[in-house]
Amino acid sequence: MTTHLDRLLFAQGGQCFFCRKPLPKAEASVEHLVASANGGTNDDGNCVACCKALNHLLASKSIKDKMQIVLNQRGHIVCPDNVSPQPNPAPTVSPATAAPKPTPAAVNGASTAIDLVQSDLKKRGASRPRKVSTLTSTIKALLKQQQKPNSDAEVANLIAELQKRGKVIVSDTNVTYKLG
Ligand SMILES: [Zn+2]
Repeated sequence: MTTHLDRLLFAQGGQCFFCRKPLPKAEASVEHLVASANGGTNDDGNCVACCKALNHLLASKSIKDKMQIVLNQRGHIVCPDNVSPQPNPAPTVSPATAAPKPTPAAVNGASTAIDLVQSDLKKRGASRPRKVSTLTSTIKALLKQQQKPNSDAEVANLIAELQKRGKVIVSDTNVTYKLG
C-alpha cells in the first residue's frame, strides 16, 4: 500500500522538499506546512516530505516562522541532520568571467548569521556563556545588534548548526566550545 509519505516522496523525486538531498524513506517525514495544530489539512497541497530533523525543528511553528527559517538559509538549505563538518567548496568561476573581488566590507556585510555567531564566540575567549540559556540570549542580542533575524527559532537553529559543525557541545543545560 502506498502511504502519504511514499506519494509525497515520489512527487518530489525522492528528495527532501527543503534541502533537496536524496531522502531515504526511513529519514523522511511528512511536514504539514500549515501545522495540524494550526488547522492545516492532510491534503498534498499542505504537505511535503522532508528530513525528520527539519520537520522536528519546524514542528508547529507558524507558517511565518517557517518561512523565516527557510529564508534565513539564503537558498542554501541544509537540514539539521545533513550538515556536514566541511563547508561546501566555493563555486568555481572561470577567471575570464570572474566578477571583481568584493571588498572586505562587502564580504562582512554578506557574512551569514552562523559565521557571525561563531566568530563572536571565538572572540569571547574565556567569557563564553556556559549555559544554553545564556548562550541563547547572547546570540539573540548579537543578531539583534546586527539587525539579523533573531527569533527563538532562528537562535535554536544556529545553536543546532554550531553543534553540527562540532564548534559547540551541548550537554544537558551546559555548553562547551571547540572553536580552535
Ligand atoms: Zn532535508
